[in-house]
Amino acid sequence: MDFSLTSDQLLIRDTVRQFMETEMRLVIREYEREHKYPTAELRKLGELGCCGMMIPEEWGGAGTDTISYAVMIEEVARVDASTAVVVSVTNTVSAGPVLKHGTDAQKKKYLSRLARGEIIGAFCLTEPQAGSDAGGIQARAVRDGDHYVLNGTKIWVSNGDISGVYIVFAKTDPAAGARGVTAFLVEGSFPGFRVSRFEEKMGMHLSPTVEIVLSDCRVPAENRLGEEGQGLRIALEALDGGRIGIAAQSVGLAQGALETATRYAKQRRTFGHPIADYQAIQWMLADMQTEIDAARMLTYQAAEVRDLETRKKPSGAPGPSRLGPYSARAKLYASEMANRVAYKAVQIHGSLGYSRESDVERYYRDARVLTIYEGTSEMQRLVIARDLLRAGRA
Ligand SMILES: Cc1cc2nc3c(=O)[nH]c(=O)nc-3n(C[C@H](O)[C@H](O)[C@H](O)COP(=O)(O)OP(=O)(O)OC[C@H]3O[C@@H](n4cnc5c(N)ncnc54)[C@H](O)[C@@H]3O)c2cc1C
Repeated sequence: MDFSLTSDQLLIRDTVRQFMETEMRLVIREYEREHKYPTAELRKLGELGCCGMMIPEEWGGAGTDTISYAVMIEEVARVDASTAVVVSVTNTVSAGPVLKHGTDAQKKKYLSRLARGEIIGAFCLTEPQAGSDAGGIQARAVRDGDHYVLNGTKIWVSNGDISGVYIVFAKTDPAAGARGVTAFLVEGSFPGFRVSRFEEKMGMHLSPTVEIVLSDCRVPAENRLGEEGQGLRIALEALDGGRIGIAAQSVGLAQGALETATRYAKQRRTFGHPIADYQAIQWMLADMQTEIDAARMLTYQAAEVRDLETRKKPSGAPGPSRLGPYSARAKLYASEMANRVAYKAVQIHGSLGYSRESDVERYYRDARVLTIYEGTSEMQRLVIARDLLRAGRA
């Protein structure tokens, strides 16, 4: 077992770190205050290949493994977790399903543009009455000749007003319940598509999150992703991969908080000593470091499982997967760990940690959503426990 990164993975880490430190860090405070989407910086991350990392080269992507992807997300989130949301949603829950279930025409039209960073992607599952209970969505899709007509409301759509393609889940057969959900590739310019409001969030301010209303939205039948009734499976599979990104985002955020807290602990003096001299502070730092390492290992393990499965099915063809419980464990532990680490980073900063002038205040707010989106901690525990208790397992 080799725990070291390859030379390619180290190059990705160093390149993304350099960009985030020299270009992104300078603007975050201002962008965060103004809830501004980092257009120019995202374009550069796209040019670096960060938007389509795991898309095969034949479709214009970087064709990297999942550990490289996790390393990239970690480095983005180490400086700004909300920029990592934009990149993570595009790479996994948007590009992933198109790669796995898209027709060649759909891949040509959307996947290659996602891969080159020309467009950003969005994933529209959640509705006002259905989040964890995704099978309970009420959006409807009715076939009308060579189109489907979509009606419904989607909320909490990340990348909501800036995306070139939205994967929208709607029921083609409501009587079939969760088996009646179908996925569609929708463009913001389609008639009947409207961004109706921006969610006002606690954190993640560089990442726009919106409500979308579909009123008789006409979607060409050729934009159906997969078969009718396959939608929920497509969504849940995408989330299994997406959770590796959220775990990596959690590790990166926590790493950034730890580094900031360590620097501060060495500078800040009380009673004639740097606070880093006190065992109370040292133990917090030691626990933070240990938990980050544990979460990183779980994240890389889930990434490795995904890579093993991809090597067996390089085309991304659908089939049984063991990834779910691995990515659930990584997401559960890493997201809860990031909240504990951000809490301690604020504590080490004292009142400065409660100030908008400190980075750790932002890390603390940004961390809170990690245990909620792409499946709450409770849903991750459900996945893990079901796998553990499944008949036939010791
Ligand atoms: C910033 C942000 C960005 C988001 N981006 C997207 C996006 O891009 N696309 C998208 O589709 N969605 C997105 N979401 C939505 C997110 O995925 C959902 O909020 C999440 O899945 C939880 O759904 P809910 O909010 O409806 O909570 P609910 O499902 O109503 O759950 C409420 C509480 O009950 C618990 N609970 C529910 N069922 C059970 C159960 N069976 N057992 C035990 N506990 C249970 C939950 O864990 C939670 O604590 C985003 C959310 C946020 C905050």
